[in-house]
This record gives sequence, structure tokens and C-alpha cells, in this order.
Amino acid sequence: MGLEQYKGDMDMCCRCSTCKFVPMQQVSGFQYANVCPSISKYDFHSYSGGGRLNIGASMLKNGFNYTHKLLDIVYNCQMCGACGVSCNYAMDMEVMAPITEFRIKCVKDGKTHPALDKIIAGLRKNDSMVPVTGKRGDWAAGLNLKDATKEKVDVLYYVGCLTSYDKKLQKLARSTAKILQKAGVDFGIAGDAETSSGGAAYEMGYEQDALDQAKKTMALIKQTGVKTVVASGAEDYQAIKVLYDKFKLKGDLKVLHIAQYIPQLIKEGKLEPKKNLELAVTYHDPCHLGRLGEPWVHWEGKKVPGDRFVFDPPKVYRRGTHGIYQQPRDVLKSIPGVKLTEMPRNKEYAWCCGAGGGVCDSNPEFAQWTAKERIEEAESTGAEALVTACPKCEKTFSAAIEANGSRLKVYDIVELVEQAIE
Ligand code: SF4
Ligand code: SF4
Repeated sequence: MGLEQYKGDMDMCCRCSTCKFVPMQQVSGFQYANVCPSISKYDFHSYSGGGRLNIGASMLKNGFNYTHKLLDIVYNCQMCGACGVSCNYAMDMEVMAPITEFRIKCVKDGKTHPALDKIIAGLRKNDSMVPVTGKRGDWAAGLNLKDATKEKVDVLYYVGCLTSYDKKLQKLARSTAKILQKAGVDFGIAGDAETSSGGAAYEMGYEQDALDQAKKTMALIKQTGVKTVVASGAEDYQAIKVLYDKFKLKGDLKVLHIAQYIPQLIKEGKLEPKKNLELAVTYHDPCHLGRLGEPWVHWEGKKVPGDRFVFDPPKVYRRGTHGIYQQPRDVLKSIPGVKLTEMPRNKEYAWCCGAGGGVCDSNPEFAQWTAKERIEEAESTGAEALVTACPKCEKTFSAAIEANGSRLKVYDIVELVEQAIE
């Protein structure tokens, strides 16, 4: 079915442009009213969520004419989901689904981006979305962690490609493991046997590769026998929890992000952040933990004939409101001396870090422009540090801070928790 199944949604777009902004009822001011990085940077309607739907509708009607400009529009989108959330504040229609299907169609038709092709070639060869340096499980050296593929454990800690291989980000895996150890969680890792979740491949448009990775990863999880997976990467969390459910592969597996698991461990008395960190922070909601991380909704039914969209049974739209928003804030508030101030765009209206949808590789300048916008917004709160819960956000923000000479520090939430429980 692909893109065709969303013809009605795309035809329904009334070009109101709400998808470019935080909804009028929610916006806190003119300065941070924009919600879509793509239209904000390129300032031409086709780069917005609505513009992409208009293009899709036109292509279905008139045929697919892949010009250089069209592909520039396709690959200059972080697939961050903000347009869908703003549109769905008032409208009942699919926005991200047709945008995703359009990208999948481009890939199927061979209209790919060379930088993304290279990453997928690496995935097919090395089972990793990032360059392979050493062995996947090297980060765990000296931590004495259980190998979940050999020993029975209650929880599998899924580390992800970036955190496993990136030398600057391996600290996040080590912090996560130390937190779980301190809390006495019976957990293990898959180490060198861990497979890429494939979530990023899906957003780049490589649907079959994502499905292949989902099958491999679920087979590995099943082999370990665990009922719960904890991920520290927002993209991987979203892939295993939401995408695998969409693929009907997840079953009853419980999938938690570490920022969601920590407050549970604190509540159970297994962790106690005691150390005073004396730090003014602001929190960046990663797209994949927030709006894109809300549970998948399976819907089966039929369209009732008529001039508007009526479905039997009524369709439930994912509006981004059921993402993980409160738990990371609860964690930060539980750390002595941490003062949290919100950015104007937060929760489901958070501005993307810039790296999503493969943009960090296909259009790195656009990714950095987007990150710089967020850094300035974070600075406007007076915070000393920008805290997030995703290695890709940390990597993108760190590069933008260095390039722009910002005074902000960047932390993943696990780094602060590890310091506070020491
Ligand atoms: S996608 Fe939604 S919000 Fe955007 S122009 Fe179309 S109807 Fe309006
Ligand atoms: S997914 Fe994000 S970058 Fe792409 S059109 Fe929507 S809001 Fe803009």
C-alpha cells in the first residue's frame, strides 16, 4: 500500500501552516514559536510538514518526477515528528506516516542520498549504524557484567551502536551499567552479540533493512529469555518499543528507557541520589523519547464513505502527548542541588537536536544549524548545563557548542545520576 494508503490524509491538508509552529494555544512567545527545523531554515513551504504532504499528493496524481530539488526537500527533514504533533493539535489526519512512506518510496525507487547509502552499506556489512572501532562490547571492559546470551538475567541492557562504538560516548554505557549495578538490578548485556536496532535505518527510508534488524534483534532478545529490555539510547528505545510493535514483532516485551527506569528504582528505594551537584540545568526532550516514543496504536477498520474522514471504529491518532516527559524531570528534581528551568519549547513541542532522519550525515550543516538554535534556547534559560537522554543529542549538541563557543555543558541524565549516587 505504501504512500497510496495516505492519499486521503495528504488531500486533506488545508495548507493552514499550523505544522510550522507551536500551536497558538501553547506557544510562549514569538521568539520560539517555530517547531519545524526544515521550514525554519529553508523558508519555503515545500520544506514544511504540510508542504511534504502537498508534494506527495501531487506526485500520486501526476507521477513521480524526482528532481534534484525534490530530493533536497526529502533529505532535509529530521523526521522529528513536530509537524505531526502541531497539526494533530486540531486535526485528525496522518502527517508523519505519509512523510515516512514518501522517503521509503524514494529509497525503493533508487533515489537515495549517497551519505545514507554509505551508512546502510556499513549496517549490512558490520551490523552497525556507526563506524566500527574494535569490538562492540569493548566499552564494558573491567565492569564484570553478565553476558545475557550465556547467563539468565531479569533485564537486558541494550546499549546501541553509537554508545557502544563512539569513544566519547562509551561513558554513557558505563554510567548506565554502574547505576544498574548500584541498584542491584539483575541485568546483563549482549556485548559483541548485540545487533543494531535498525530504528535510524527506518527513518532514513530503508524499510527492509530496518525490518531485517528488528527480526535479528528480537531473535537475540528472545534467546536471552528476558521479559524486560532497558535502553539508554532514545532511538533504540523507540525502535524496540514502537517500531517493532508496528512491525508486529515486539509481543509482550517490556521496553524501558533508562530515564524512565531510574525513577522507578528510586521509588523502590534501590537508588538514592544523595550528592549535591549544585547545577542549574535545562532539559532537552529527545524526539524519540518524547513525541515519537509514544506507544504504537494498532488500528484496523474501514473508511466510511463520505466527504470527510470517518472511520469505523474511530481512528486513534498518536498526538505526541504520551511520550516520556515527566520521568526524566522527576530524576533531575530528585538530585540535590539540581535546579531545572524549562526551555520555551518543551515536551511534545521540543525543538529537535538536528541529527534525526540521517540529517547529521546527509546534511551536517543543517544538523548543526538546528543544534545551534537549541543551544541558544537553552542558554536563554540561564542554565549552566543542557541535559538530555540520548547519545545522538549529546554528540550533536557537543559539536555545536564547540563550534559556536558556547559556555553550556552537555550531560546525559545518566552522567548526573551516576555522580549523585557515588
Ligand atoms: S499538515 Fe496539517 S497543519 Fe500542516 S498545513 Fe496541512 S493541515 Fe495544516
Ligand atoms: S518531521 Fe520535523 S523537520 Fe521534518 S517536516 Fe516535520 S517538523 Fe519539519
